[in-house]
Amino acid sequence: MAIRILCVEDNPQNMRLVRKILGTAGYETAEAVDGLSGLHMAQQEHFALILLDVNLPDIDGLEVARQLKANADTRDIPCIALTANAMHGDRERCLEAGCDGYVPKPITKGELLHTIAHFLSPQSEHDLT
Ligand code: MN
Repeated sequence: MAIRILCVEDNPQNMRLVRKILGTAGYETAEAVDGLSGLHMAQQEHFALILLDVNLPDIDGLEVARQLKANADTRDIPCIALTANAMHGDRERCLEAGCDGYVPKPITKGELLHTIAHFLSPQSEHDLT
């Protein structure tokens, strides 16, 4: 059975890019276009990993991460923030919110797959930040 990854992203072009990259690596992508539906989907199915756009139309990706990490059922799922705000301090904000990793936009195939593989690896120390 394919590894399923939830991508919470409101921009259709970014979603298409993520779906394409994940597909080439053999992952299945579940898609949510806003924070609340992403949270809802994460309660319905236990995903291997969650990609979180930070800028979403309802609650932002950092709030989604906080809520996922506050819930015992979803706390252990690795969360990777995707953000265009590649400013100083942005990475720290993502990690403070509970994200395990961080991929700046524009997303590149190599960086996204490398980061995902790191967090899905059983011997991972989850220290890639
Ligand atoms: Mn967005």
